Amino acid sequence: MSVRKIVHIDMDAFYASVEQRDNLELRGKPVDVAWKGKRSVVCAAPYEARRFGVRSAMAAGYAERLCPEAIFIPPDFARYRAVSRAVRDIFLRHTDLIEPLSLDEAYLDVTENKSGLATATKVASTIRQQIREELNLTASAGVAPNKFLAKIASDWRKPNGLFVIQPAEVEEFLTPLPVGRIPGVGKVAEARLAKLGLRTVGEVRARSLEQLQSSFGRYGQRLYELARGIDENPVQSNRPTKSISAEDTFDQDVLLAETEPMIRRLAEKTWAASRKETRICAHGSSEAQDGRVPDPHSKPHSSTPAGVL
Ligand SMILES: [Mg+2]
Repeated sequence: MSVRKIVHIDMDAFYASVEQRDNLELRGKPVDVAWKGKRSVVCAAPYEARRFGVRSAMAAGYAERLCPEAIFIPPDFARYRAVSRAVRDIFLRHTDLIEPLSLDEAYLDVTENKSGLATATKVASTIRQQIREELNLTASAGVAPNKFLAKIASDWRKPNGLFVIQPAEVEEFLTPLPVGRIPGVGKVAEARLAKLGLRTVGEVRARSLEQLQSSFGRYGQRLYELARGIDENPVQSNRPTKSISAEDTFDQDVLLAETEPMIRRLAEKTWAASRKETRICAHGSSEAQDGRVPDPHSKPHSSTPAGVL
C-alpha cells in the first residue's frame, strides 16, 4: 500500500498579517480586522490582539472592550485574494494537486512533487521559506499521511511552525489527543463522547465499530476510522463550487417589509459572483469538469521515497 504525502498550509493570522505587512504603523500592535460597528464581527486578529483574548468571528464591540487600544482596520478582501493567489503560485511550483479551504488554507498532495525535493517535509519547509522570503508573511505547515492529520499537524506548532506526523508515529500521536481535536467533533459530540467516558482518541479507539455506530450513527464509522488515523479522502483540486452566497449585517434592526433593497443588493452580489464561475454542463469524465482537457505531455513528476514524509 502506498502512503499519501499530504501537506496542510495555514497562513498565520492572514488578514491581520497582510495589514501589518503593508502598514508599518500597525506592526507589533493589536489590530482587529473588522468594520467598527455594533453588529460587526472581527475577521482576523494578529497574535498581539489574541493576547487580550480577541478571536476572529468575535463581535467587534466585545473585542473592543477586551482590548480598547486595538486599531480597527476594515477588511480589504480584494487585496487578501491577490495575496492568496500569490501563495497559490508558490504551491503550484511544487504540485498541481491543491485543495483550497479558504483564502489562507489549503491541502496539497505532494506524494509526487514537481520540484524534485526528496521528502514532503522538505517541500513544506521550502514552501514556508518561499512564502516568507517572497511575500514577507509566515505560514504554518503540517505534514502527514492524510488530510485530517495534516490539518491537526499545521496547528501543532502555530504560528510560524512546521510539524510532521510520520506514518509510523500516527497511533502514538493520536492516543492522548483530546477528542475535540478530531475534525467534525464539535462541542455537542464532545459532550456526548464524554458521557460515554471517551475523552481521548485512544479511548475512542478502544470501542468497537458497533458501539460507536450505535451511539453516533453514520458518524460512528468515521470516528472509528479517524481514531485509527485512517482518512482516505483525497485532495480535490478543482473542487466544484457547491454554493455561492452573500451576507450583510446592519447597525440597527430592519423591518422585514423594508428589506427589499437589501435583498436585491445581496442577490446582485451573488449573481455577480456566480458569473465568475467557469461552469459547464457536462456528463463525461471528471477530469474535464473544470472545462480543461488534461495535458498528456505535462512534466513528469519526481517521486519521493515511500513510507517517509
Ligand atoms: Mg490561518
